[in-house]
Amino acid sequence: MKTELDPQNVTLPVLSAADIPASPAALRPILDLSALELADWLKAHGYPAFRTQQVRRWLIQRRINAFDQMSDLPVILRRQLSEQFRFCSFETVGHQIAGDRTEKLLLRLHDGELVECVLMRDPGRRTVCISTQVGCAMGCVFCASGLRGVKRNLTPAEIFEQVLVLHRLMADDEKITNIVVMGIGEPLANFRSLMTALSLLTAEDGFGLGARRITVSTVGLPEKIREFAQSGQQYNLAVSLHAPNDQLRTEIVPVNKNIGIREILDAAEEYHEITGRRISWEYVLLSGINDQPRHAEELASLLQGRTAHVNLIPMNGVSELVMTAPREPQTQQFLEILMHRGIPATVRKRKGADIDAACGQLRLNREDAGRG
Ligand code: SAH
Repeated sequence: MKTELDPQNVTLPVLSAADIPASPAALRPILDLSALELADWLKAHGYPAFRTQQVRRWLIQRRINAFDQMSDLPVILRRQLSEQFRFCSFETVGHQIAGDRTEKLLLRLHDGELVECVLMRDPGRRTVCISTQVGCAMGCVFCASGLRGVKRNLTPAEIFEQVLVLHRLMADDEKITNIVVMGIGEPLANFRSLMTALSLLTAEDGFGLGARRITVSTVGLPEKIREFAQSGQQYNLAVSLHAPNDQLRTEIVPVNKNIGIREILDAAEEYHEITGRRISWEYVLLSGINDQPRHAEELASLLQGRTAHVNLIPMNGVSELVMTAPREPQTQQFLEILMHRGIPATVRKRKGADIDAACGQLRLNREDAGRG
């Protein structure tokens, strides 16, 4: 079209810095600052020490959505905060609510990347599920999160704030009782951010949740499991096993090739000895692949004599994949074999079945829509 500008030949007006509105994306998210850093900032701006706790209580424990709502803070301080910091690390760009009141959020990070987090409701229990990476490098064949590899690690604030943003969605009389680190990514591959986020979640002056109410799920990275055991906290550990022998596990969980089940069992045993927590073994049931009675027998033999609990997870459908969950009787049979052999086991209840249920699916769908 004739009216189009020649991009090589456009004269741009010269702006002074004062003419350019500060982009909120350029500001540092306030929870990127440690309590100490925030205290320093407040001191440098002439505020007394008690303001640090006050601001952090608003950010972490109360359910507000902007600095302006920090009603017992001087108006000028609220304005300074909003000029200098972003209230939250990300923006909520998708929100699904299922018939069972499971809620799933799609979050856009400052660099445009997407992650998900979920709130699940059970009687007397509110569990949130959070992500630790953008994508995942582990490549498990049934999982939506790893289909496009990993883009980057989340920062501690980006992990921690997923809990806060879900907390702010809840009714006043509801509170988060459990956190599962089972969203997108491999948490132990982003170890330092994970540990900082977990300490914010458990700290008295943080979110204040007991470590025993937090479960970290891992593909099984032995060295990191050992490091995690040294946290001095009683976090629960769930290990994604998915197969009772190395040959099959390497087919389903490719990173197993360089690890091996024996190494994982040893590291998990050490975790149990040091923390006293019972290990949970996750086993996604894939029809015709790892769901046969012989697999259940082999799994029982593998876990015999260990303080373990098996969590059977019938596969959630992923639109790009052909694998499916077994039929109900097959799942029951698998469960019964384990129980009969004295291995405590349960079948994980499906939540949010009518929304993009499989983890990473919502992000994938949105990315594909953006591409098309
Ligand atoms: N990287 C961690 C956390 C991943 S998600 C890990 O491997 O444990 C948490 C659990 O959900 C894992 O056990 C994972 O294998 C499982 N999962 C992933 N995709 C699934 C799907 N489509 N259906 C059922 N479970 C799935």
